[in-house]
Amino acid sequence: MKVARKIVLHFPAQLVEKAIAYRLVKDFDLQFNILKASIIPDSEGFIVLELSGEKDAYNQGIRFLTRAGVKIEPLSQNVSRNEEKCTHCGACLTVCPTGAFEVEDASRRIFFNHDKCIVCGNCLKACPPRAMELHF
Ligand code: SF4
Ligand code: SF4
Repeated sequence: MKVARKIVLHFPAQLVEKAIAYRLVKDFDLQFNILKASIIPDSEGFIVLELSGEKDAYNQGIRFLTRAGVKIEPLSQNVSRNEEKCTHCGACLTVCPTGAFEVEDASRRIFFNHDKCIVCGNCLKACPPRAMELHF
């Protein structure tokens, strides 16, 4: 049975330059599609990828990564607002498809209702001071 999962791999500094992902292909016959990566030599890094292959091989690949010191998390994204950066300009009001932003009548400040957010990413680009932040 085949499995395909989106996961985040966190690399400690000593593993960043090793071709860990390549080993997944060569040794475990897995396929991967890198969705996002941030790797800085001599520092920590992460790769967001979709990893797929036969279930047993997939599990062996995950065990290999864990033993190598790679921390693995399922991909889950979350958008939050950095309250210190938000200037309550209102630019996010018109781009949010779910109405997660509302103007508070009395203060005219912009309220962010996290529960309505579907992580579409529109406000990340629209916010002038980059107060909306994406977290994995
Ligand atoms: S666009 Fe950014 S700065 Fe403006 S109200 Fe929305 S979150 Fe705040
Ligand atoms: S990420 Fe999309 S859904 Fe979530 S608050 Fe921003 S615009 Fe609205």
